[in-house]
Amino acid sequence: MKLEGRIALITGAGSGIGRAIAQLFVEEGAQVVVNDVVLEAAEATVRAVGMDGNRAIAIKADVSSSAEVKDMFDSVARRLGSLDILVNNAGIAENLKMEETNRKAEARVGELMSGGPIRTHWDITQEMTDEEWHRMIGVHLNGTFFCTREALKLMSARNRGAIINLSSVAGLRGIEVAPHYGAAKSAILGFTRSVAREVSSRGIRVNAICPGWVETPMTQSMSPLFRAFTISQIPAGRWGQPCEIAQTALFLASDDSSYFTGQWLSPNGGLFTS
Ligand code: NAP
Repeated sequence: MKLEGRIALITGAGSGIGRAIAQLFVEEGAQVVVNDVVLEAAEATVRAVGMDGNRAIAIKADVSSSAEVKDMFDSVARRLGSLDILVNNAGIAENLKMEETNRKAEARVGELMSGGPIRTHWDITQEMTDEEWHRMIGVHLNGTFFCTREALKLMSARNRGAIINLSSVAGLRGIEVAPHYGAAKSAILGFTRSVAREVSSRGIRVNAICPGWVETPMTQSMSPLFRAFTISQIPAGRWGQPCEIAQTALFLASDDSSYFTGQWLSPNGGLFTS
C-alpha cells in the first residue's frame, strides 16, 4: 500500500488514463477525489473503482474555469480537510477535426508508399480559429495552473505534497496534427519545472508524465490506417494501456520517487527517446 492515508484529487478522471489512475490509487490505499467536467462520468469512475463513499468521491468542475476550480478545492477542504496528491490529467482532443485529419493522414501514407513527394499538406495552424486555440490552452494549461494554485494552498499548510501533470510526447517533440495541443503540453512541462523549483523548500514535489499513444476514448476516433502508421513508429509495436500510465503516476505520487522533482517520465514504448 504505497498511498495509505493519502488524499488524491485527479482531474478528468471520468475516463481513460484518469480513471485508471483513480483505480490504482484506491487499490494502493488512497482516498480519491474523482473530478470530471461531466458529473455522471466521475460517478461512473467512483462505481468502477468499487469504493463508494469515503474512499472515492465524485466532484464536477470544469478545470478551465478558475471559479469552478476554486469551488472544487473549497469543497475538498471542507469535506476532507487536506490534500496530498494532485494529478492534473483533464484533457481534450475534441477540436482536432478527426475526419479530415484521418483523410489527410491516409492520403499522405499513400503518397509516401508510392515514393512521394507528399502533396497533401496538413495546413492546420493556418486554418485554426481563435476559439480552438483558446479552448485547447484553456483546458490543458489554464486548467493545470488553476488546480495547482488551489492545491498548493492546501499542501502548503502541511508542507508536503506531490503534483503530477499530464503532458505528452507531443510536448516533447511536437505533433503535426495538433499544434495547439503540442503548445499546451510543452508549456505544462515549463510550468512543471518552474513550480517544482518554487515549492521544493515546502517539501512539495512537482513532476510530469509524457505518455506516447494510449488506448483511451481520446484516441479512438483515429482511422485504422492512421493508427497503424503511428504503431509502425513505435519500437514496442503497440499503443500503451491506461494502466501502464497509472503505474507511472503511482511512482511519482508515492515516496518511491522522493528525490524526483521538476522531472518528466515518458511511458511511450520507445516512440520518443532522449
Ligand atoms: P480521455 O479518455 O478523453 O479522458 C479525459 C477526461 O477529461 C474526460 O473524461 C474528459 O471529459 C475530461 N475533461 C475534458 N475537459 C475537462 C475539463 N475542462 N474539466 C474537467 N475534465 C475535463 O483522455 P485520456 O486519453 O485519458 O487523456 C488523459 C490525459 O492524458 C490528457 O491530458 C491527455 O492530453 C493526456 N495524454 C493522452 C494520450 C493518449 O494517447 N490518450 C497521450 C498523451 C497524453 P469529456 O470526455 O466529457 O471531454
